[in-house]
Amino acid sequence: MKYALLDRGDKLSRELAEQFRSLANAKGLEMDEASPEIVVSIGGDGTLLQAFHRFKSQLDRVSFIGVHTGHLGFYADWQKGEISQLVDLMANSEPRLIQYPLLHVVITTAEGSTEYLALNEFSLKSVDGTFVAAIQINDVPFETFRGDGIVISTPSGSTGYNKSLGGAVIHPSLEALQLAEMASINNRVYRTLGSPVILPKHHHCDILPDAEDELAIGIDHLVMQMSGVTSILCKVADNKISFARHRPFPFWNRVREAFIGSP
Ligand code: NAP
Repeated sequence: MKYALLDRGDKLSRELAEQFRSLANAKGLEMDEASPEIVVSIGGDGTLLQAFHRFKSQLDRVSFIGVHTGHLGFYADWQKGEISQLVDLMANSEPRLIQYPLLHVVITTAEGSTEYLALNEFSLKSVDGTFVAAIQINDVPFETFRGDGIVISTPSGSTGYNKSLGGAVIHPSLEALQLAEMASINNRVYRTLGSPVILPKHHHCDILPDAEDELAIGIDHLVMQMSGVTSILCKVADNKISFARHRPFPFWNRVREAFIGSP
């Protein structure tokens, strides 16, 4: 089996990556950074986001495994003392493939349209002052948003930025996207729904900002500034990310361990 390895760059992650390489080599696993079958990320959920963006053009043939160097993560389920067990399982057993939905974003300016894929979320703010945008659902005007910004997340991203905004935690087996508001202005003049909205796969939403606005756009851990944006389309992507599971890692256990603690 061919694998690629990505680590967070800190001392512990680099040491674990070295340990992984030498054990994998002894078990006959072949390193291939260009076209791997398995991508192993060592660090945290943030490192898995980086691994996803590095290999997102190969989603139809690549699956991911995450090793966490701290606490258990949402994408990184193996811990630092388990590298040898992980390599053994990779060399000797077939994993179960678990697929999670992704978010497809199309940003349009006068120059044309650019497509993006997000594993966690897409976020949108104004660089200067209040962010204002018309929001349409399925091509029908829904509301005009005024406030700090909006976040549109995937089910697996619902425990990230979305949760800090009061969004719902969604099980990743549901093909959906969630729109959460950041500090919307609601008074007699301006009105938005004020609660998170969850759309199914066959729905889409369009965000129509003021094209004059300089926007701060986030796609997972990546941030960029853009002006002249006339519309942004968000929908559940047709492709999914695959995780190679060599043991069960129930989503609700992760939610409990991350936010509540052991019973
Ligand atoms: P970061 O600011 O260094 O770390 C953000 C934290 O979010 C890290 O603890 C990371 O876990 C955790 N995280 C990432 N994906 C998650 C998920 N799906 N569920 C629960 N926690 C998650 O940024 P980063 O490491 O590059 O990660 C980017 C992510 O940060 C964004 O996609 C967004 O979800 C999140 N974020 C959250 C807020 C907020 O809550 N106010 C603001 C901005 C961004 P690890 O420590 O395991 O890497």
